Amino acid sequence: MNQKALGRMRASEVGHTCSTESYGLLKLWQDWNRTHEILSLKWLACRGGARVGSPATQQGLAIRDRLDQNARTTKVAVFVNRRLITLFHAMPFSSLGLSPALLAAIEREGYSEPTPIQQEAIPAVIGKKDVLGIAKTGSGKTAGYVLPILHNLQQAPVSQYREPTVLVLVPTRELADQVQQVFQTFLPALSERLVCLAVVGGVSINPQMQAIGKVNILVATPGRLLELVEKNAVRLSSIATLVLDEADKMLNLGFREELKRILALLPPQRQNLLFSATLSEDVSLIQKGLLKNPQVVKIAAETDEIDLIHQLAYLVSEEKKGPLLRYLIKQGNLKQVLVFASSTLKADGIVNKLLKNRIHAAAVHSKLSQETRRFNLQEFKAGQLPVLVATDLLARGIDIEFLPCVINYELPRSPKDYIHRIGRTGRAENPGEAISLVSPAEMDHFQVIQKKMGKRVKILSGDLIDLQGY
Ligand code: AMP
Repeated sequence: MNQKALGRMRASEVGHTCSTESYGLLKLWQDWNRTHEILSLKWLACRGGARVGSPATQQGLAIRDRLDQNARTTKVAVFVNRRLITLFHAMPFSSLGLSPALLAAIEREGYSEPTPIQQEAIPAVIGKKDVLGIAKTGSGKTAGYVLPILHNLQQAPVSQYREPTVLVLVPTRELADQVQQVFQTFLPALSERLVCLAVVGGVSINPQMQAIGKVNILVATPGRLLELVEKNAVRLSSIATLVLDEADKMLNLGFREELKRILALLPPQRQNLLFSATLSEDVSLIQKGLLKNPQVVKIAAETDEIDLIHQLAYLVSEEKKGPLLRYLIKQGNLKQVLVFASSTLKADGIVNKLLKNRIHAAAVHSKLSQETRRFNLQEFKAGQLPVLVATDLLARGIDIEFLPCVINYELPRSPKDYIHRIGRTGRAENPGEAISLVSPAEMDHFQVIQKKMGKRVKILSGDLIDLQGY
């Protein structure tokens, strides 16, 4: 990017990069240095009224070191060519009150700085407060509760309990796996041996019944948890911390009754942490009944991130969508693309056609076994599977790092789902591409989506592309 283009950058564009996944000034500096010709970059940190500035030329580690020594509220202003580009709070993990063992594990994991939700949620959870976190997947919310929960468990040994003391309720099996993995990442840092188990439906209950006896932290989908309770495999009377993750999705999926039944089984004295991508009416109702004087942590809405995504649409007749999809994958040499379909049947049809055309693809949807879903998702995440075709099951909740491209084979019914779908790409500082294949019959609906999103999408004619041979 040349100087002129940099001059045109809006402060919010850059500020946003910092605030979504605040990996700090060091990374910002490294990235900018790589991609922009910056003549002069100055930073200015304000600490308790005092200002410390530095010329840009040999910044890097020097800046980080100065910030690391710092206490909780360091404001950093970044100037490019004397223009204020961004202002953000920098805060090291070491200022959040976590134990040295966890801090070492965080460093091993390569997290250089807490994300905004972590900055606020971690001290609150350590202080045993209830938390209402309005944040979606990708914000670092999981570590935002996992780390302080582990810290608290470390402070108050739990080996005396024969029942779980921490319960994390999640709406989907995939999210349960993901949350358990984050616990597993940090558990070895603790001196006390603690066990975390994820229990989900769709797989045999027997191994879960056997394993659940010695568990400290239970991650569960509501239906399977109730089955286990009914079979007397687990008691929830020692739960001291409850986490409801993706509460909005849980309510959308109709888990209201199950949730009520589970809450009735928990001791009344406990810490409650509720995370949701949106504060819908339903979620408001639940939080009012559940949370006591909560610390509210609100992170930028998903719609704010849309600017990071390069959106494009093709107006194309329904029968040409298949060839156009294959054309886009082959011509664009797409190595990792998530394709959204409207139904499980459609998703399977798309996969079959891709395979026939020698494009390696697999599906993830509710009609597939849990093993298959898990396997396909893992292969895709690991970069072994270039095309994953999904229904809206995956539109929320699943974090796939650095996904470069999402294709809507069909538009979702709700504009919100469109935003969730394309939100799988363009995370933090990685710009992504979202392409929609829109049939003439879907065009009116696409206009509504654009209006709701507040953004116009460039529409090209797919029928003009020569699709012979695709
Ligand atoms: P989540 O929003 O919890 O699904 O997390 C999104 C991704 O961010 C995960 O891949 C985490 O490993 C990663 N992550 C979480 N916290 C940090 C951090 N402080 N620095 C860097 N990466 C992080």
